[in-house]
Formats: sequence, C-alpha cells, structure tokens
Amino acid sequence: MSVNQQTHTGPPYGQPQPGYQGYQQPAYGGQPLPGVPHSQYGVYNGPMPGYQQPVPPQGSVRAPSTSGTSLSSGHLGYSPFGQGDVQNGIPASTAPMQRPPASQPFLPGSAPVPVSQTSMLQQYGPPPASVQQLSNHMAGMTIGSTSTSAPPPAGLGYGIGPSSYPPTTGAPRPPTMPGPPLPVQTAAGPPTSQPNHVSSPPPPPSTLSGPYQGPPMSGLRGPPPPTHPPQPGYQMQQNGSFEQVRGPQTNYGGAYPGTPNYGSQPGPPPPPKRLDPDSIPSPIQVIEDDRSNRGSEPFVTGVRGQVPPLVTTNFLVKDQGNASPRYIRCTSYNIPCTSDMAKQSQVPLAAVIKPLATLPPDETLPYLVDHGESGPVRCNRCKAYMCPFMQFIEGGRRFQCCFCSCVTEVPPHYFQHLDHTGKRVDFYDRPELSLGSYEFLATVDYCKNNKFPSPPAFIFMIDVSYNAVKSGLVRLICEELKSLLDYLPREGNMEESAIRVGFVTYNKVLHFYNVKSSLAQPQMMVVSDVADMFVPLLDGFLVNVNESRTVIISLLDQIPEMFADTRETETVFGPVIQAGLEALKAAECAGKLFIFHTSLPIAEAPGKLKNRDDKKLINTDKEKTLFQPQTSFYNNLAKDCVAQGCCVDLFLFPNQYLDVATLGIVTYQTGGSIYKYAYFQLETDQDRFLNDLRRDVQKEVGFDAVMRVRTSTGIRATDFFGAFFMSNTTDVEMAGLDCDKTITVEFKHDDKLSEDSGALLQCALLYTSCAGQRRLRIHNLSLNCCTQLADLYRNCETDTLINYLAKYAYRGVLNSPVKTVRDALINQCAQILACYRKNCASPSSAGQLILPECMKLLPVYLNCVLKSDVLQPGLEVTTDDRAYIRQLVTSMDVAETNVFFYPRLLPVTKADVDSDSLPAAIRNSEERLSKGDIYLLENGLNIFVWVGVNVQQGLIQNLFGVSSFSQISSTLNTLPVLENPFSKKVRSIIDMLQVQRSRYMKLIIVKQEDKLEMLFKQFLVEDKSLTGGASYVDFLCHMHKEIRQLLS
Ligand SMILES: [Zn+2]
Repeated sequence: MSVNQQTHTGPPYGQPQPGYQGYQQPAYGGQPLPGVPHSQYGVYNGPMPGYQQPVPPQGSVRAPSTSGTSLSSGHLGYSPFGQGDVQNGIPASTAPMQRPPASQPFLPGSAPVPVSQTSMLQQYGPPPASVQQLSNHMAGMTIGSTSTSAPPPAGLGYGIGPSSYPPTTGAPRPPTMPGPPLPVQTAAGPPTSQPNHVSSPPPPPSTLSGPYQGPPMSGLRGPPPPTHPPQPGYQMQQNGSFEQVRGPQTNYGGAYPGTPNYGSQPGPPPPPKRLDPDSIPSPIQVIEDDRSNRGSEPFVTGVRGQVPPLVTTNFLVKDQGNASPRYIRCTSYNIPCTSDMAKQSQVPLAAVIKPLATLPPDETLPYLVDHGESGPVRCNRCKAYMCPFMQFIEGGRRFQCCFCSCVTEVPPHYFQHLDHTGKRVDFYDRPELSLGSYEFLATVDYCKNNKFPSPPAFIFMIDVSYNAVKSGLVRLICEELKSLLDYLPREGNMEESAIRVGFVTYNKVLHFYNVKSSLAQPQMMVVSDVADMFVPLLDGFLVNVNESRTVIISLLDQIPEMFADTRETETVFGPVIQAGLEALKAAECAGKLFIFHTSLPIAEAPGKLKNRDDKKLINTDKEKTLFQPQTSFYNNLAKDCVAQGCCVDLFLFPNQYLDVATLGIVTYQTGGSIYKYAYFQLETDQDRFLNDLRRDVQKEVGFDAVMRVRTSTGIRATDFFGAFFMSNTTDVEMAGLDCDKTITVEFKHDDKLSEDSGALLQCALLYTSCAGQRRLRIHNLSLNCCTQLADLYRNCETDTLINYLAKYAYRGVLNSPVKTVRDALINQCAQILACYRKNCASPSSAGQLILPECMKLLPVYLNCVLKSDVLQPGLEVTTDDRAYIRQLVTSMDVAETNVFFYPRLLPVTKADVDSDSLPAAIRNSEERLSKGDIYLLENGLNIFVWVGVNVQQGLIQNLFGVSSFSQISSTLNTLPVLENPFSKKVRSIIDMLQVQRSRYMKLIIVKQEDKLEMLFKQFLVEDKSLTGGASYVDFLCHMHKEIRQLLS
C-alpha cells in the first residue's frame, strides 16, 4: 500500500455544504448551542430576572487559501515531506520519543463493576409476609367500592384463576372483552401535588379488582386465597417466582404465562372473560393528568421533599435552594427513617443525577462563584461545600455542617453578619447560600499535579479500511469535519474554541498527521509497529483550528483520495486508543477521541479480538458472556485513559458482528458515547450519522471529572450506575462527562434518620471546562424522612424507579443468567407492592389488586423492561444490539428511559394542522390503531411512521406524494418535503421529536400488513410480544398472583 498523491476533488471549500444549515438553525432547535452556555455566567446579584438566549455561534467560514494540492506521496514508512524543522522521516521502529513503558497497557486486570445478582435478591432480607393492593389517590377516599361489592363470578377474571391466561397461540387479542368491568382508580382524590406530605392517613388505594374475587380479607390477614392447580405454562417456585415449563421452543424461553408456549400445552378450557384493558392503569392517562395538573405552574424548589412533575410534563423550574429535577431525580422524596422500614418496603432509594444537564433557555444556568485563591468554603471534617443548608452560628463566625454536624470557623474573608432570623445578610447575594445548584471556580489545589490544566484536545481517528472507504464513509467524515471544526465547544464569550485538534487514520497500521500551521502541506507519519504504540510527532499533531486551517482542510481533502484504492480489510483497535491516549499524555492535557470504526479488529495487535458471537447461548447460563468483554485488555486501557482524562467516543459502522461488548468498554468506562449504524449506507444513514456527530462534537462536556455524592448522617451512597470508572468506593471518575450523561446512585441506611432534619444530598462534580478552567459544580437536594410507609409510597416517582431498576437489571446480566435477573425484578416489584397492600391499603378482598397511586404504572413499565431486548431479545436482535442497548440505557436519564421502554405513539392524522400542539398520545397496543390513520411511534432511537391500509388517498398523497397505499416506499428514511399543511405538520412533529432526543432517531416507514410491521409491533409494548413477552394485561395478572403469594 502506498500513499498516493492525488489532487483534491472535493467541493470547493467556502461553499455551503449540503445539509449544513443545521448549524445556524440548529437541529437541536431552540436550545442554546453547546459551547455557549457559560456565556451567561455573570456577577450574581440575587435572583436573575431573566435569561438571555445565547447567540448561536455563527460560523464565520473562512475561505482558506486552499489549493487542490495534496499530501505528497510517500511510501508507507514516513513520508519525506521535508519541511524545515518538521519531524518526519523517522522510521517507526526507531522513533525515540513518546514510547510508553512497554508493559503497562497489557496487564490483565479486573472485570468491570460486577454485582452479585444474589445480593440483589437477598439484601433486603426475607420478603414481608403480607397482603397487597393496587391503589390511588391519597385523599382518604376508599376506592373500589364497586369492586368490593361486585359479586365474584367464580373462575373469571385475572389473577390466579386458571382462566387467567387465554390459550392463545399468538392470535390477536380481541378488543375489550365483555365481562364484569374492572373498576380502577375510581377515587377522585386530589392530585398528589401537595408539597409536603408528612404523615397523613394512608392513601385510599385505587382498587383494581378483578372479576375473580377472593373472599374478603379481614384486616390484613384473611383466609388464604383459594389455591389453584398449577398453570400449565409455568410452575410455582419456592421463592415465588415462576418458571416456564419447557415447551417445544427452547430458544426463547422464560416467557410469561399467556405466551405462545401456553397454547401448546394441554390445559383447562379457555377463559370466558378477560381483563378489560381500559380498566387498568393507563400510562397515557397518568401523563396527561400530570401535564394538566402540573404543567402550568413553575416548579419552585424551595420546599424539602417535593415530588417534581413527571419528565413528560413541560414545566419551568425555579431554583430556590434545591437542585432542579433536571439535575437530580429521586425514586422517593420521602425516605424511610430506618433501614428496617426501607427493607420492608423494598423500594430502592436512588437518585438519577445529570450534573451537566442542558437547561431550557428560560431557566438560569448555575452561577459561577469565584472565591479567589482561598477557594470554596468547606466543612472541615466531611469536606462538604458551602450550601443553603449549612447553619451559621455564633453571630456568623462559625457554621455547623448539615451533613456531618461538625462546626467550622468561617474564614475571615467570608464572614458576614446574621439577621434576626439567623440568616446571613448576604444570603441572596450568594448563590451557594440561596440556590440548589451553582459552580465554584476551583483553585490549583483541585488540579492534577497542582498545575492548572491545559485546554483539552479532540482527536479524530478514522478507519480507512476497505469497507469504510468503499461505503463513502471516509469521504463523508472528512467533508463534514471541514465545517464542523468551526463549531467546537467554546466557553462564554470566547471568540474561538480553545480546543486543539489532531488527526489519525488507520487500518492495520496507524497514520499520524502533522498539520502545523507553518507547513504548506500536511505530513503523514505511519506507525506500523502497532504492538508498542507511540506517537511519532509532538509538534504539529495537536493544533489550533484557525491557525492550521489551510493545512487541515488540505489534509481532509486528501484523506479520501489517499485511501481510495485500498485493499486493506483488517483493522486494529486497541492501538488506536493507545495512540490517542499517548498523544494526550504528550500534550499534558485531557481530551476526547472520536473513533470511526467499521469492523472486528482481527489484525495482529494488542486488543485483537475473535468472533465469539453465539446466539445459541441465549437462555443458557452462559448468556452473560455475550455481555462481557472477551479480554481484559480494554479494561486496563480504560483505566489508563481515565487517569489521563482521555474520553473515547465511538462511532461504529458494522456490517457484521464486531463485539460491541468488548469494543465499548473503553467508551463506557471513560464516560464516552457510543453510536452504532449497522449496514451503513450513505443515502439512508448519513443524515442520522451527521446529526449525531455534530451534536456530539458540539455538546458541552467536562473533562477529567470526579464526582462525589455526600449525604447527611444516616444514609450513604453505596452503589453507582453509569458510564464511568471507580478506583475507590466513593469517587466516580469520568475522563469526560457530557450534558446527556447520568449517573444513578443508590443509597442505603447506616443509621436512623429523623423526620425533623430530613436527609440531604450534595453532588459535587470537579471537572475541566472546554476552555481548560477547573470548576466544581454543586447540586444540593433535601428530602423528607418518614416513619409511616404510606408517606414513602405517596412520594415515589415511578419513572425514576424504572430507570434505576433497568440499570440494576442491565448490570445484573453481566453476572447472572438473564432469567434470574428477570425473576429478581419481578420479585422485588411484587414485594414493593405487597408491602403497600399490607401496610398502607385499606383492608379489602384478596381478589383486588391495589396499587399505590404514584406506582400504579409500575407493572406496565416493569413489563416493558422485562421485554426489552437485553432481557428478552427480539427475533432480529443481534448480540451487538443487545450490548449496545445495555450500554446506552446505563447512562440514560429518566426522560430517556421513560420513552425508551414505553414509546410515544401519536396519531398524526388526528393532529390539528393549525396548532403547534402534538396530537394526544395513545397507548401502545395494536388494538388502538385504526386502519384509517397514520401514526408516529418514537422511542428515542427510532421513529416509525405507521400507515394503515385504509388511509384516505388524499392523506397519502399529501404526506408521501404518491397516489396510493401500494406506492408508498417503505425504504424511505425521510418524508418528502411537500407544500401542504398535513405534510408540514407531520414533518414539524418529527423535527420536534428529534430535537427532544439526544440522538437523531432513525425514521422507518411501516405499512400495515407489510413485512416491517413485525419490527414495529415489538414496540407496541402493551401487547404480547412475538418472542414471548407478556401483554400488559397478562403481566398485571401475574404480578397480582405474585403479590398474593407474598401476602398469603
Ligand atoms: Zn461536614
């Protein structure tokens, strides 16, 4: 292979690039462009009246005096572009500089944060023996008057009767079955919007009582529910879980009752009646209710323990002393006072934290507080940072720590008098005294080696093997980078980004480029000794974009040409990351690697992988190996990367298995992002990729970050989930942390809490900004504590609970059989609901399922998690898809997990074309779809456009520009731009959805009764899935049975 001399054939630089308008009117619409946010820091003078929308950076495209000249030819070794003092021509094998200690990167190491699954099941002790219920509002009204009075038609209904699960073989479920109606949530209590529920009487449960009613329960223990013969499809286990009897299908076992397996077993006669889907809790209704109840008022954070509106509600946040729910959401805002209570309830206590979350334009960004050389004021003992909950005493000379109670002297420069209420008179002038979130400028003490950091660097590392070149990917990336480099994140009002850039291409060998501004042409240096990676040049590798613009443009023009004729199909991967890491080490800075990679790295090199994909392992004890890395090489490399602040973002373009579980390790542990475009095709996938790339390059990111969560006495952070690395039990280290990443933290009791003092969290994130400034971002949150379980159940947030449970389960599959993980999830949720039924709900019949109002969606959402591709793979799902999803979910915030597990389904033919509003969403079930309508379904990764067979021709014409249903092409990945109100409306809805998500969603057109509809149906999560996932109705019945088992 040689480096060919080619003339530049790309479009003349300086002309607008196609598809590039996205920057001016960002596709991320309405939001300030990343890179700008800090411009709003300013002198803090009390509450800021407003917030000015940052001006998006205008790309002053400077026409470089570029020519069509090119990289000179050279042979593979080192190109001899002699240029004065440039270091080139050094043979790879003898290059003296930057050689790392030879042994370090290759040591085998420990596996990543494993968690024992058994501990998940048993850590809370034995399940409470009790009863349960499905419930509702807290107004004291007993719900379910209908349910308790309805005579139970024996043998009917859901629950445990043998008739519960129809012996369906996968035939569509008939719509609403006749039968006794199931009263659900009939209580019309007030919405749970009271800020502070201390200890009111137990909420009246919203009763979901099945037609099958057991004998009434007297008090909490009634007669045991009637016993039933074992179901044909499953057997009861001692632990209350169930197991699928081996049916003819063995590949996708572990299904619920009511799955296709069932039908193949001899069984009792079909049930005459079913649960009416309209009578069970509806996610859509809950979302709509919250919107109408809580969307109009701002959420003011001044009150302890307030449950915020749902993530699906648009609301404004006013920081009055607690962190916005955009930064922190909790599973419960009222924590049990004792660990016994917490164990009894089984409700996990966790916070989902997004420290650098992007705020809407009308909310105020955290102020930056500069205490000069003395740095932030902290507690002497626990080192908590000054916050609104610190108590000033002795006339303001000392303060008592709200976390550890230690008393600390106020430093002289920080002294201030107290007013008659004991509040400092400068309270409103200081963000750290009056706000939940703020930043401190860090002093040199907070810097590595006691040295202020250099600005970070971005290194673009492009796979130039055969597939990458042939698909047009290499050219696409190079073209995009030419303009994208003008949009690197910048700080505040800075004219240009402080981030330096570097470029590497690779296949089996690595090519480094010298793009120093004094060069007339870029120079290439090849390192073919990949066994011991080093960077062959120091000077000229990382450069300022503006200074080196001409050379960079020239390089990007030439790369596609240089490799146009490559025949090299093999790639390396480990050495690529090592090279980036070494370059950052040499430059003594943190940074991010953007790696564009296409294939399993089988070339001889450290980190070489083999194809070990084996779908036969699904549903075996070895299934977990599919999620584990095949070598510890990348774990060790990740550790080195974190130490340097080298974050790795990975863009994958596989045409076959490339082992995401292994390749993704470094990305995962460095806080990076992974993107996957299987079977990448330029025409259909470039928009999605380019949108993702643009957003990824531009978004706000903190480097070399360490996060610690402090808590008040009585609880402590015990477990962490997310994309990071931990070298001890308290510090979450991330080479990079961007505005989309969350860390989920679990808390456990280590002492009693008090209702008076409540509980406090302080999340402190130390990071380096994109301009190289060292900062601390602080988020504080105060929670209530309770001695009554009812208060716990009244202040939970199910969306956050699901976020936590999904992450817990997704980590569990690394170490336990997937079935064990699923069973554990079911068991834990059954225990949560059983504890409620036993302790909080009014006595009622065992035939009633009674759920706490704010957990009434727990069963439906839990079922979605259980049916997700990681825990129960769909037919078309690959091993890489599962590893990819597993990794994505681990960093998702609550809004993302919400829509990912329960997609949003919008009937667009019902949309009002004259308004900006979205049509009301509908439930994810086939029976809700009408043949005469068109629907959008989005889950954060994909958008489906489903077209019914009977849609009016006029609508088809307006949306697709064709005259009939049969002419609609399902290969479209975008809707045609047509000048009519319906087309505009649908496209604007799609744009609106794209803007809300952190990734650009793939658009897929699905025609009813077409082949692709199978794929679409996987997302109709209330229905039974093709691979055995239970329908919502069936799962609810199953949960009810589990709960009754626990209570009997
Ligand atoms: Zn303290």
